[in-house]
Amino acid sequence: MNVEQIYRDANALLQGHFLLSSGNHSEFYLQSARVLENSKTSEKLAQALAKNIKTSGIKIDLVCSPALGGILAGYELARALGVRFIFTERVDKVMSLRRGFEVKNGEKVLICEDIITTGGSAMEASLVVEELGGKVVAFSALANRGFCKRENSNTEIKSECKLPKNLPFFALEDFTFDIYEPNDCPLCKAGKSKAIKPGSRGN
Ligand code: ZN
Repeated sequence: MNVEQIYRDANALLQGHFLLSSGNHSEFYLQSARVLENSKTSEKLAQALAKNIKTSGIKIDLVCSPALGGILAGYELARALGVRFIFTERVDKVMSLRRGFEVKNGEKVLICEDIITTGGSAMEASLVVEELGGKVVAFSALANRGFCKRENSNTEIKSECKLPKNLPFFALEDFTFDIYEPNDCPLCKAGKSKAIKPGSRGN
């Protein structure tokens, strides 16, 4: 499966000057919502990811995603795995579990994002789940931005990766674009544009 081609075909691989949720800047942005708006494609991607996870033999009771970006990918993955799905969301910037969702003591949880860049939001969701007694057993995403090391890939783990090194991370593809700290961003230095938050101008 060529995930990069799927993103290109869906116009989900954007080029510009973007402000990422981590505060860093990037010339490229993966707008997974454009891929996931196609329910058949979503199903196909989730089934491929579920196959990798099942092959590993890891047992999972439920999938949890950080809102908003992870919800569609996480829900489709939960369906492909035949397990429950919940999501965490920010309340005054603090990641929380709301809406009556529960995590039972000892339940094995897979954290799922659409894209893992440094894994910051995924880690916040993971901490919420573990505080409630759940046991996070793996992480997953449709695509890996190349900072963390996914299973079955030769890419090196980078210092920016926040995911725990002792847990597996499943993703279908590596997308290795540079990200820049705002003070060190060549696009800012060029002075022709300001970084925009993806989604803020119709993208
Ligand atoms: Zn910039």
